[in-house]
Amino acid sequence: MDCIFCKIVKDEIPSKKVLENDKFLAFHDINPIAPIHVLIIPKEHYEKFDLTPSELFSEMADFIKNVAKELNITDYRLITNNGSNAGQEVFHLHIHMVANPEGKLKWPKLV
Ligand code: AMP
Repeated sequence: MDCIFCKIVKDEIPSKKVLENDKFLAFHDINPIAPIHVLIIPKEHYEKFDLTPSELFSEMADFIKNVAKELNITDYRLITNNGSNAGQEVFHLHIHMVANPEGKLKWPKLV
């Protein structure tokens, strides 16, 4: 069975899309932790960072830079939770892009 993000890729679950090409999709997080909180995913299913072919990240980096341009932001934080103890809840690789165009992002204590 498809995971929730595979269903978003197939438009079986609605999402607020920011940018898309044949390999990647960016959409707004349903439960944002910052004024801008976008998830960037490969359309192909990889469970997490560890299990994703490294070659994918060069193209993904270009896509991420285009997402920032689309959102008209220059300052942002990228996060990927690799595994449940790191906070991963959806097991389809995703990079969180968070930003606060009005000021500084906090850097919270994580443990
Ligand atoms: P993680 O905890 O790193 O696996 O992050 C999963 C993220 O997916 C969380 O920030 C959720 O708010 C987000 N999320 C879960 N379901 C959806 C959805 N249907 N549309 C958009 N974001 C979602």
